[in-house]
Amino acid sequence: MKEKRTELQVAALCNGTAIDHIPSDVVFKVVSLLGLEGLDNPITIGNKLESKKMGTKGIIKIADKFFEENEINRIAVVAPNVVLNIIRNYEVVEKKRVELPQTILGIVKCNNPKCITNNEPMHTRFEVIDYANIELKCHYCGVKIDKEDIVLK
Ligand code: ZN
Repeated sequence: MKEKRTELQVAALCNGTAIDHIPSDVVFKVVSLLGLEGLDNPITIGNKLESKKMGTKGIIKIADKFFEENEINRIAVVAPNVVLNIIRNYEVVEKKRVELPQTILGIVKCNNPKCITNNEPMHTRFEVIDYANIELKCHYCGVKIDKEDIVLK
């Protein structure tokens, strides 16, 4: 029954993308990572929705918007298990899981105050060294950052 209700919530979109299974505490980070504030498309944000697997979850629905793979994979840094429902004509035509890219450019802040990326106007660059636990390593200073310590720029 609950599954059905979720499907209905998602299917309410005519055309566009519904981003599902977002951990409640990062819903607004996802909004900002995807630059949704700057879009003119109608957007629905649901948060603290009941989820059997996660306790609570968030859903973001964006009408008439279909993301590029590299665009959407940015959010894997904060929400690795997110599911994208691609909706056309009120039907989910595709479900995609986000994948953490091997290299993360310009999203995460380096936690080392002496790192060049904190002292020069430049993009940060991290390599993912542990996919399961989300551990990143700064390309420039080598500092390692655990999931809990990830600060977004
Ligand atoms: Zn660094």
